[in-house]
Amino acid sequence: GEVDCLIGFMFDISERKRAEEELLRLHRELEQLSMTDGLTGIANRRRFDQCLDTEWQAARRSGLPLSLLVLDIDHFKQYNDAHGHVAGDDCLKRIAAVLAGVARRPRDVVARFGGEEFIVLLPETDAAAARGLADACVAQIAALGIAHGGQGAGPVVTASLGLGTALVDAGATAQDFLKAVDGRLYAAKRGGRNRIEPLL
Ligand code: GH3
Ligand code: MG
Ligand code: MG
Repeated sequence: GEVDCLIGFMFDISERKRAEEELLRLHRELEQLSMTDGLTGIANRRRFDQCLDTEWQAARRSGLPLSLLVLDIDHFKQYNDAHGHVAGDDCLKRIAAVLAGVARRPRDVVARFGGEEFIVLLPETDAAAARGLADACVAQIAALGIAHGGQGAGPVVTASLGLGTALVDAGATAQDFLKAVDGRLYAAKRGGRNRIEPLL
């Protein structure tokens, strides 16, 4: 009844570990790609929707203001007509870079919302600070000095912007807030473009 000897087995699983790690890396890369806009490299709509949900809940818990900018390029169809789609794409990339340069906090999200519409989510940002960032966006886009000259457009490419700040309470929904800020964007268009309309 005494142990006489022990027998052990050893297997080299390095190859399997390497394969697992590679799979994990590819998985992360794919996840990242599925959240990124292919043209501009900023977040896409899917990523924005996720972050809006998360930040809406966070704002409700913390009681801190959450701000949102919705931006649309002015007369962009005519820009494409006048300069071609390749130039149009380049313009979108440059504007995305401006926005990413303005909203720089780690939790800020700059996303491409649709064709030539962008959205900026600003957690823990009050109305005055959001206004400052919105002013910077509009000014820096005009300062790119991208010649437009299409019919009805100004000399350079500009953008219009809707802006809102929410103090989230239990009954409010993120979708209603988004809709309200989007409505201000259209007020900015109606009001003559190259301007900001805040939600009051
Ligand atoms: P407004 O000032 O009222 O916003 O006029 P607009 O011409 O910018 O607005 P509209 O929504 O009528 O046109 C948007 C245009 O944006 C349509 C399309 O030509 C252009 N566009 C959308 N997505 C892309 C894209 O990925 N690349 C390029 N080059 N153009 C795009
Ligand atoms: Mg549009
Ligand atoms: Mg437009």
